Amino acid sequence: IICSWKKSTSNIKDVFDFKGKMGSGSFSEVFMVKEKKTGKLYALKCLEKKHLAHSNLENEINVMRRIKHENVVGLEDFYESQTHYYLVMQLVSGGELFDRILDKGIYTEKDASTVIKQVLQAVRYLHENSIVHRDLKPENLLYYNTDENAKIMVSDFGLSKTLEHGVMSTACGTPGYVAPEVLAGKPYSKAVDCWSIGVISYVLLCGYPPFFEENETLLFSKIMKAEYAFHSPFWDDISESAKGFIRNLMEKNATKRFTTEQALRHPWIAGDTAKDLNIY
Ligand code: ADP
Ligand code: MG
Repeated sequence: IICSWKKSTSNIKDVFDFKGKMGSGSFSEVFMVKEKKTGKLYALKCLEKKHLAHSNLENEINVMRRIKHENVVGLEDFYESQTHYYLVMQLVSGGELFDRILDKGIYTEKDASTVIKQVLQAVRYLHENSIVHRDLKPENLLYYNTDENAKIMVSDFGLSKTLEHGVMSTACGTPGYVAPEVLAGKPYSKAVDCWSIGVISYVLLCGYPPFFEENETLLFSKIMKAEYAFHSPFWDDISESAKGFIRNLMEKNATKRFTTEQALRHPWIAGDTAKDLNIY
């Protein structure tokens, strides 16, 4: 197969001016860059080849390039050098989900419902295209721009299988958003994303994570048993509808868990049960 889209470069700095670092993980760094030829700004994700020795990256990139959705950060282009792969991504400028909520002051169930609906639509689309994100968490939910009503964009999808992102970062970081079956080492499915969306909804509504334990063994065991609660007084004023919605997503049994379709039909998303009352 000839990959007409793959471009080789001996030095990526011939193609882009580097503006500043936007983030980094164990396998990658993300920079804001300006394409010299066009003057256009992008987010460039740089992956070291040595971490991807036997991966199926080219297949995955091919899939990611076909992904086009208004709530998914687009992959625009792809370069490789001797040492690195470079993913040229649509640049979004509104910042991460939680940073903005902290600034906002007023936050309602309706606000949370609006965000979660967009995430569900994005993830439904990924699932329709046989992509499991596997690393859904607030840092990967970015606002499109700085407008107050900016849409939310899902980023960082498609590579988690290759990078063993979920499980690896679990081993060294916080497993807070990872589904029970992932921690149990069982084969994972689309349902892992639905669990994570449940956890994100939980945090949006109360400001703290459903699982928190100093002791990692205990933390893992709590997640694997789906042992969480809606504590008083923090959850007292949250609607039963919101709690029901979360229970259906944070369902231990992956086969009983809501799909994105079901979640999108739930009244807290599709109806008017999300309260309009400030919750922070
Ligand atoms: P990692 O593999 O390190 O998680 P990400 O793709 O999530 O890499 O990027 C790390 C950080 O860089 C994100 O949390 C976000 O703040 C920023 N970022 C990533 N992609 C974009 C983008 N397309 N536009 C703007 N910022 C981005
Ligand atoms: Mg990320």
